[in-house]
Amino acid sequence: MPNAAIDIGLKFDNSYAKQLEGFYVSHQGDKVPTPALLKLNHLLAEALGFELDHLQAEEVASIFSGSVSPTGAAPLAQVYAGHQFGSFSPQLGDGRALLLGEIINRNGERYDIHLKGSGPTPFSRGGDGKAVLGPVLREYIMGEAMHALNVPTTRALAVVITGEKIMRKELLPGAVLTRIAASHLRVGTFQFFANRNETDKAKQLADYTIERHFHELVEDQNPYLGLLRTVCDRQAALIAKWMLVGFVHGVMNTDNMTLSGETIDYGPCAFLDQYDPATVFSSIDKHGRYSYSNQPNIAQWNLARFAETLLPLIAGDKEEAVKLASHEVNAFSRHYQKYWLTGVRTKLGLTTIEEGDFTLAHDLHLAMEGQNVDFTLLFRGLADAVRGKTDVARKLFDTPGKFDQWHTRWAERLARESVEPEQRIASMNAVNPLYIPRNHKVEEALYAAEKESNYAPFEKLMTVLTNPFEKQENLSEYAEPAPESFASYQTFCGT
Ligand code: AMP
Ligand code: MG
Repeated sequence: MPNAAIDIGLKFDNSYAKQLEGFYVSHQGDKVPTPALLKLNHLLAEALGFELDHLQAEEVASIFSGSVSPTGAAPLAQVYAGHQFGSFSPQLGDGRALLLGEIINRNGERYDIHLKGSGPTPFSRGGDGKAVLGPVLREYIMGEAMHALNVPTTRALAVVITGEKIMRKELLPGAVLTRIAASHLRVGTFQFFANRNETDKAKQLADYTIERHFHELVEDQNPYLGLLRTVCDRQAALIAKWMLVGFVHGVMNTDNMTLSGETIDYGPCAFLDQYDPATVFSSIDKHGRYSYSNQPNIAQWNLARFAETLLPLIAGDKEEAVKLASHEVNAFSRHYQKYWLTGVRTKLGLTTIEEGDFTLAHDLHLAMEGQNVDFTLLFRGLADAVRGKTDVARKLFDTPGKFDQWHTRWAERLARESVEPEQRIASMNAVNPLYIPRNHKVEEALYAAEKESNYAPFEKLMTVLTNPFEKQENLSEYAEPAPESFASYQTFCGT
């Protein structure tokens, strides 16, 4: 019997529950021993319209642990399938997560409120349905850092410690993350129904997705082709942003790719320290499938899987459908490159468009290869170079001459634009972050939290990362490259 609901001031409008029966199982989160709220993203909660001040701490903690539902919520576990490292799993789904419901904020935007680690569901496949503190805080840190870097992403709202000890490699503190998302519609959601040849369901899902995210397509001549085109475009924009900030997702399975174009499911992800296109952080990615430089290819591969699910909707004639869909998926590379080029121009301080810009930007990346260059500091250091202070950037190269050669060409290119240095530097510093979630700093924060119940390093890190473009006093350690010992940094899936 679920507990009595608690009013938290939100008006739920659960369209997924109402319109997509058969796409989920209603489910309640586990009761946990001593739930305690460890972190609340106050600004986000306020923007969403949460009213929590009148509640006891235990009530707030029980809501964000999933054991008590707020008034209006209709918790459910969503079903989906997915290609995991290239192999198809026909039956996945929320094995340790729940969609509490959807709310509409003051600006009329609809958001999913979703719990991760709230206990087993019918989709748990033998898993315990739980999450542990380290990975929960990692998702909090990475999601909020990405948001501050202007990368579309799900966001972290709250963390509760459950009081349970969860068995992984060792016993670890259990935790639940509350996150918000434009939706949790995944490529894998479509795959689940397409794989079962349930074309009616696939159509229902496509119509729902169009209605929810891409309303402008309702009038389209072929809305399903339009859906594919738009999702491909959003993903091209997203992956370009990842590449421009040096983000490596780590598990780009099709169940971890949204239709909304938001980054989702922060597992063994990390940011590049030294630039190496082959960078893989995840210990389970033995063949580099999800390496930094392979991310655009994999996104396109995933989109081809998405396209397959839409074929019967795109055209009655299969050959025609394949032709139309292939055209959209093939266009991904062009769109990706367009977004990347636009982004990298800003990073390089360019305000006009010239033919040679791609080669110029690409050659900087080639120059960085094998030079142990800190990716983030190099781009940030270019702002100094605008004023002729090239030392900061060139010192990052093992062979500084590699930078000098490139710098001459870049300086010539800048000279062809009439932009005041101050203005140029300001616009570069607005896209080239000084602070990213440095792997050693993330590990330091997680270790202190998990092993010592000391959350101060996590809190400090969050303060730094929510303002990544502006130099702040006394925070130089957060802008420094990792110590040598982090050269072969590995992340673990840590579910
Ligand atoms: P992820 O790797 O987090 O994207 O999850 C892949 C699939 O495994 C999803 O269906 C998850 O719900 C499920 N899963 C991951 N961890 C657990 C767990 N501890 N218990 C049950 N299901 C899990
Ligand atoms: Mg996932």
